Amino acid sequence: MFLCSDYLLIFGMIKCSGMKMILMAATLLLAANAADFHEEDYPVRQGSLDEMQYSPQATSFHLWSPRAEKVRVLLYEEGQGGQACDSRDMALGTDGTWHVTVPGDLRGKFYAFHVRIDGKWLGETPGIFAKAVGIGGRRGAVIDLAATDPEGWAEDRSPAMDGPASVIVYEMHHRDFSIHPSSGIVNKGKFLALTEEGTTSPEGLPTGLDHLKDLGVTHVHILPSFDFSSIDETALELNRYNWGYDPLNYNVPEGSYSTDPARPEVRIREFKQMVQALHRHGLRVVLDVVYNHTSNARSSAFERTAPGYFYRLKPDGTFANGSGCGNETASERPMMRKYMVESVLYWMREYHIDGFRFDLMGVHDIATMNAIREAACQVDPQVFIYGEGWAAETPLLEADSLAMKGNVARMPGIAAFSDEMRDALRGPWDDDAKGAFLAGKPGDEESLKFGLAGAVSHPQVQMDKVNYSTVAWAAQPTQMISYVSCHDDMCLADRLKASVPDLRPGELERLDMLAQTAVLTSQGVPFLFAGEEVLRDKKGVHNSYRSPDDINAIDWTNKAAFRDVYAYYKGMIALRKHHPAFRLGDADLVRKHLEFLPVEGSGLVVFRLKDHAGGDSWQEILVVLNARREAASVRVGKGRWTAVVKDGKVREDGLGVLAGPVLTVGPESALIVWKEDR
Ligand code: CA
Repeated sequence: MFLCSDYLLIFGMIKCSGMKMILMAATLLLAANAADFHEEDYPVRQGSLDEMQYSPQATSFHLWSPRAEKVRVLLYEEGQGGQACDSRDMALGTDGTWHVTVPGDLRGKFYAFHVRIDGKWLGETPGIFAKAVGIGGRRGAVIDLAATDPEGWAEDRSPAMDGPASVIVYEMHHRDFSIHPSSGIVNKGKFLALTEEGTTSPEGLPTGLDHLKDLGVTHVHILPSFDFSSIDETALELNRYNWGYDPLNYNVPEGSYSTDPARPEVRIREFKQMVQALHRHGLRVVLDVVYNHTSNARSSAFERTAPGYFYRLKPDGTFANGSGCGNETASERPMMRKYMVESVLYWMREYHIDGFRFDLMGVHDIATMNAIREAACQVDPQVFIYGEGWAAETPLLEADSLAMKGNVARMPGIAAFSDEMRDALRGPWDDDAKGAFLAGKPGDEESLKFGLAGAVSHPQVQMDKVNYSTVAWAAQPTQMISYVSCHDDMCLADRLKASVPDLRPGELERLDMLAQTAVLTSQGVPFLFAGEEVLRDKKGVHNSYRSPDDINAIDWTNKAAFRDVYAYYKGMIALRKHHPAFRLGDADLVRKHLEFLPVEGSGLVVFRLKDHAGGDSWQEILVVLNARREAASVRVGKGRWTAVVKDGKVREDGLGVLAGPVLTVGPESALIVWKEDR
């Protein structure tokens, strides 16, 4: 496994939301009682991690805090501010968990726990597993969860799917997707934006939910939508923007994406409405989860209930910083592992979430990721789990235990992003001006082949010529995420403008479509960044984690302006869905049916999918990716070939018949042809 610390560091920095310097300063402070961790002092809580159970007759409170001398629950009328209207001492049970039952109907009230250890009160907290909170996320809310279900929720079902090879992911941020005036969406930047039907751009083209359905992706991956810290929920009129990689309450939807963050049940109901609407439109929903660090460790719920337990600490008692955001959690500890498993299951059961993208998965340990996948599969065998197989700085756990990309083969059913393929196409992460295959530069063809084969070992991929990795790290092709862009770094159009000198008319579109042809014909799982299909840009901003809407918003007038690009994306998605040869889903089948053809010179990759690969109706499919600035000739043998992708057009029923033995592919474009079985 290739691990360059500088590379990792930058990746983490760009993830950090909020004031990085403040977070870094926080790491310099000593965690309470940090260095003397003794596992025997921390019994694991048995059963559910519920901390509040409501009924109209009484509400019971529970908090795991094994080393506490005293624990209280404080009751409030308000979600923030004001004085406690009641306070109850809790009693210690057998497994380090404290309990109290308060009679009466507490619905509508708020609560906070307060823990004393070594004579010191640690500060109020909503607990580690709050399911509803007041505005700003500092107090829990007493609600009746069942009453938050929208109409028809009991009948809500995830769309059927046919294994991980059929997944096509669309990664979006709520504000990016709906905030621009051209979206035609009413609930801009809200969960409810994804419930509106019939919305259009000024030119009358579908936006929002209808756009997603028309595009044909299978999974919508929403950027962090749990309660995060960086947006002031009491000042939404400021229209601040943040990606949300600064977790506050892992098991509550973010308040700023609701229409009323002050009413705890509203964000919960609206989140469910969003999932319900996406499901009705045939789309599964992926949650971006960030268990690898918390916003401010010192004042976090973790530190205020069991200081020093949930984070990895250096010998001097300071927080380790594998996340690059000031701290890293300790997934290998039994309660943190249980916490992550329970949290994932909670999102699946309560919110009907269908998949999870683990931020900086490489901070977590392999056993925890496997435990999560096994438990999640019990709820939904089709759950799709993937993550970033890297960390920001070197985590404080043996490298062999970490859920890094290089260890993915030991995590069956879990996928990791391929930076090999991404950077082979667009150029390295650390130099926006440097291009690669798309820019016409030689030397990245082997890395591209690695990605096209889904990161599994393949006799024709020479690993010594592949960037970053020396071994084929995926056991199955569905363990690789195939992509050229995501929310991190420049989007594709910006990157092409930055890395391809003197772009000529039409060149941006041609290279963009060529890039996604590679992504969508890869045996890995394709992943598209929202808006690429309408050639979005971010005005050249590399790290837009808190840039204003005028940088991050997708301008939907682009959909008419780049009609051909949109049609191409849509056509390529349909082609992949209709032809199993492009998504074999099995390493042996990839090695059997995917054959790269020899080519002379650089800037050209050619492969064929042969012998009715995956039971495909087409006997042989040929894919040519030509990044050269001139047309290329490819020797393919005799026969009549039907073109389905050619010169920036996709037509499954054919764009004409080409005769072998030599085919010509236009400059900066892809050619896909199939040969009849005779
Ligand atoms: Ca929040």
